[in-house]
Amino acid sequence: MSYLVLARKWRPKSFDEVVGQDHVVKALVNSLNSQRLHHAWLFSGIRGVGKTSLARILAKSLNCERGITSKPCGTCSSCRGIDSGGSLDYLELDAASNRGVEEMSNLLSQANYTPVIGRFKVFLVDEVHMLTNHAFNSILKTLEEPPDHVKFIFATTDLHKIPITVLSRCLCFNLRKMSDNYLIKQLSVILSNERISFDESSLVMIARLAKGSMRDALSLTDQAISYGDGVISIVALREMFGMVDSAKVIHLLQSILLNDVKSLIDIADNVIDSGFSYETFLSDLAILLSRVAIIQHFSDSEINDIDLISFKDNISPDLTQLLYAVVTHSSQELAQSPDQYSGFLMICFRLLSLASQFSNNNFINESLPKLNNSEIYNSTKQELSISSNKNIFVNEQKNDLVLLKKAAEINIVEDKDSKKLDKKNIDFDLVSFSNNDWLELVPKLSLHGFVLELARQSEFVKVFENNFTIRVSIPTLASHENKLRLQTVLSEYFDMTIKLDILVGATGDKTAHARSQAQQLYKKKQLEQIVDDDPFVKEVVATLDGDVLIDSISELD
Ligand SMILES: [Zn+2]
Repeated sequence: MSYLVLARKWRPKSFDEVVGQDHVVKALVNSLNSQRLHHAWLFSGIRGVGKTSLARILAKSLNCERGITSKPCGTCSSCRGIDSGGSLDYLELDAASNRGVEEMSNLLSQANYTPVIGRFKVFLVDEVHMLTNHAFNSILKTLEEPPDHVKFIFATTDLHKIPITVLSRCLCFNLRKMSDNYLIKQLSVILSNERISFDESSLVMIARLAKGSMRDALSLTDQAISYGDGVISIVALREMFGMVDSAKVIHLLQSILLNDVKSLIDIADNVIDSGFSYETFLSDLAILLSRVAIIQHFSDSEINDIDLISFKDNISPDLTQLLYAVVTHSSQELAQSPDQYSGFLMICFRLLSLASQFSNNNFINESLPKLNNSEIYNSTKQELSISSNKNIFVNEQKNDLVLLKKAAEINIVEDKDSKKLDKKNIDFDLVSFSNNDWLELVPKLSLHGFVLELARQSEFVKVFENNFTIRVSIPTLASHENKLRLQTVLSEYFDMTIKLDILVGATGDKTAHARSQAQQLYKKKQLEQIVDDDPFVKEVVATLDGDVLIDSISELD
């Protein structure tokens, strides 16, 4: 026996079998039962949600030999004719390939004949929005004064392209997109019936790919069955669609949030080995972040993935947004990178750097470390990597402390945060305003969130009269809202109208953010040197033939 594709085999043949469109079915059944029949119906909705199936069931209901009914028999010659496509009283026209007035005239000329065996001539015009204006006009004449024996059913995926004159003469129904949960439930019923074994997570993936379309879900399932030789498994599906194991993407996000550079490098090393592209990996990371955002903003969402729920409580919604924006923007950089590996790694470092800044500002909840992290956390390596990312020359040799100190220019930014100056107490001269003034100014402004990040990550370019220009390297921070907010705060501070221009481009080590990172690193190196030089420590190390654990050095409160 030849194999019948699932979408055809499981196409609903009666209103009882229609799934997920209860609101439409109920209205149609009621009007059929009470014999109040309209002469034109319009079904709208995305592809594969059952518009054509409903049209055929409706046609059978109108023409069943047992009378107008909401339960067509399915066995009379009229019902069978409609199901098999051989009915002379039911005509389907695909407007996508028959757009013109001529095709429409041919169809409408059929309306002049009385039905052959049924009660009505039923016309289905699929993708009706594709018709030309002339074709719409010709159909309109018949719609305005329809013969008693003619019924129209229109189906469309784009309701907004249909002229209001046509819409106003139809009974319109919007068919719903199917939810993921609904698709999964339906697929598991069908597969159990077909005696095909499957794992739950593969259905989740199919539902996600089908984007609300039952027909797409079924045809993907068909492909999966033939690919997996009669069995559906998540591993085979990933191979088939070239998708990244979601656990790997989750691990990537965890590593970013945990500042785990070693894991990041391991992941980057393994991407190619596992047969995926860096591009796919980044786009999956963006999808993961968008799913985290959904559950952060909408607690009733259908997403019940345990990993996602753990992220929900461990990243602030602001950081989720920022990471998403950086991932999507940075993905375009991949093509321009010297090679995909370094491009991917640099993007990951950027994300890590952003996440760590946010965590310094308590944007990441303190409970974060409870996320599973199998890798050993190596803070020294991490700091060095971040710093090299910021073009600050770093070397573990003691002699380079001088360089570090220069980079940090600690005297400039030290303890500025603790100063609470009256905003009217302006101590900057706009004529001689410099980048150092900018660094001194930023902590004095009442900023928070993204606007604070914008100020901290910007370097001063110039000021002319009341017109400030700054430069930032992260395009998303230069958003219109951030710019307006910073402009307002600057105007309040200087007690005059300030106009702000933001350039997007590479910044050096002259931003408040780069300075504070360099400062932290300098302090750490300074502490290490103090410990190293301490005679007592030297003696203990020598006597016990031991080593100083660098990471354990910290400043007393
Ligand atoms: Zn029948």
